[in-house]
Amino acid sequence: MPRVSIFLMILLCVSAMAETRPIVIAHRGASGYLPEHTLESAAYAHALGADYIEQDLVMSRDGVLVVLHDIHLETTTDVATKFPNRARDDGRFYAIDFDWAELQQLEVNERINATTGQRVYPDRFPIQPGPFRLCRMEDQIQLIHGLNQSTGRNAGIYPEIKKPAWHAAAGKDPGAALLALLDRYGYREATDPVFVQCFDPAELKRLRFELKTKLRLVQLIGKNVWRESTANYSAMRTPEGLADVATYAQGIGPHLSQVVKAPNKPPTSLVADAHALGLQVHPFTVRNDALPAAFSDLPLLIQALVDEAGVDGMFTDHPDLVAVW
Ligand code: CA
Repeated sequence: MPRVSIFLMILLCVSAMAETRPIVIAHRGASGYLPEHTLESAAYAHALGADYIEQDLVMSRDGVLVVLHDIHLETTTDVATKFPNRARDDGRFYAIDFDWAELQQLEVNERINATTGQRVYPDRFPIQPGPFRLCRMEDQIQLIHGLNQSTGRNAGIYPEIKKPAWHAAAGKDPGAALLALLDRYGYREATDPVFVQCFDPAELKRLRFELKTKLRLVQLIGKNVWRESTANYSAMRTPEGLADVATYAQGIGPHLSQVVKAPNKPPTSLVADAHALGLQVHPFTVRNDALPAAFSDLPLLIQALVDEAGVDGMFTDHPDLVAVW
């Protein structure tokens, strides 16, 4: 075979591998190393080579899209110290009760368990007075765009709309606000480096069919006991349920336990069923310091997910440790 043809074949193989390798989604930034959802955590995720950086989104009283996992503030910030009189009757501090100017005053810390007051991940970044602050979705976009320019990389974004029905009941529309913000920053087409995710299928259908977004959408699949929405996630995981998802979304984000069970045990049929419908599969969440009980180390879990189940990407708190392919 002529040398040029061999070179072309190698090039084609390499480019095919590059297209099909699983994507690394930095879960709340590089949250294994820095407090989740801070700009520092997003910057570090970018430096560690994450393909996409995730932002969970809630809305402030004055309509700012804030990067925050919970609708509550006290598990990751010092709100109870700074604004002791602003809890609701249930004792909790809701981001939606604060304007962005107030939220900016809060310090962000590693996550604590709301019930026990103990750290969720004891070996992670120390809890101490520090520089970490909440940020807006717009801040994260500007940071990632800037880093993409200065590094020559093209990291994408992976925003999640949190509790859209709860926000709607409070007169807020984070989904529409997100699409408008993304449009302003040039995210408009299915080929743009963004996935919009949500647990609530009604919200994703609204984004697709009423708000007419062309962006790629990902249906998160939880467990019914989490009460993330009124959807039946057991039914959603069946071939019939997935066929409905495929009418509005390009992918699913299932829990790890819905994809793999244990080393050397066959994966569930979920990835194959989703692939048969053209859906990508991005399970959550791979954590080196909180592995599923059946997996004694991270490489075993990665092997099961990538080599056996054939996932298309994964959410991880440790974006540098999973990219072993
Ligand atoms: Ca999330």
